[in-house]
Amino acid sequence: MRKKIVAGNWKMNLTYSEGLSLAEEVCKILNEKGIQDLEVLPEVLFFPPYLHLSQVVSICKEQEGVSAGAQNCHTEAKGAYTGEISAPMIKSTGATHVLVGHSERRAYFSEDDQMLAGKVKAALENDLTPVFCCGEKLPEREKEIHFEVVSSQVENALFWLDNNSFNKVVIAYEPVWAIGTGVTASPEQAQEMHAFIRKLIKEKYGEETAENTTILYGGSCNPKNAQSLFSQKDVDGGLIGGASLKAMDFIGIIKSF
Ligand code: PEP
Repeated sequence: MRKKIVAGNWKMNLTYSEGLSLAEEVCKILNEKGIQDLEVLPEVLFFPPYLHLSQVVSICKEQEGVSAGAQNCHTEAKGAYTGEISAPMIKSTGATHVLVGHSERRAYFSEDDQMLAGKVKAALENDLTPVFCCGEKLPEREKEIHFEVVSSQVENALFWLDNNSFNKVVIAYEPVWAIGTGVTASPEQAQEMHAFIRKLIKEKYGEETAENTTILYGGSCNPKNAQSLFSQKDVDGGLIGGASLKAMDFIGIIKSF
């Protein structure tokens, strides 16, 4: 079922106590300020660093509609992979989601489509919802090959799934040139790419699956521009980096439907 989601990717920011305070503050505001009466209240997700995860999960348990996930996972369930974290470990904290293929993982940790397909598999096998990130770099948009880039990312990492498994995936379109730059895709650019992704899904899995797939936008989304992005037909919410680190900014985005 297609959902509205606002997800905060904290990246490698916030100490343990700062992270817990942020999660507590967001949950408190969600409770207190009549936000529960909004016409559209999206599902809220936190993606804190691994270290913070189990405690953030505990905080989320107190607040309906809020849950937490990890920013990454390994393809293997266990073994000699010093410094890595597996999907079963993430699941054991009570987390429900995992980001797969964030552009920073692709760029700095050489994650390719084949590895990302393995991470999607690991997530699904452990009953975690993969939030699969895709998006083109600036030179790729300038060369006007952004549709090809995104279609190959989505097809290679996801289109081997059967229909039932694909239905459990959330997609986040995040143009790399918009991440952390202050340059946001225009609502028209976001809608164009989201509609394109939905069309790919329809061709592969049929109309019902395409209509039920949640596709988030990410890239310098903030309380000022969120409403124009989220009002687009095929934009179901946002994956938020910088603006998820301040409770009031994140709440502003949550209220933008
Ligand atoms: C992100 O990292 O997923 C992201 C969208 O970052 P920002 O909102 O800071 O551009």
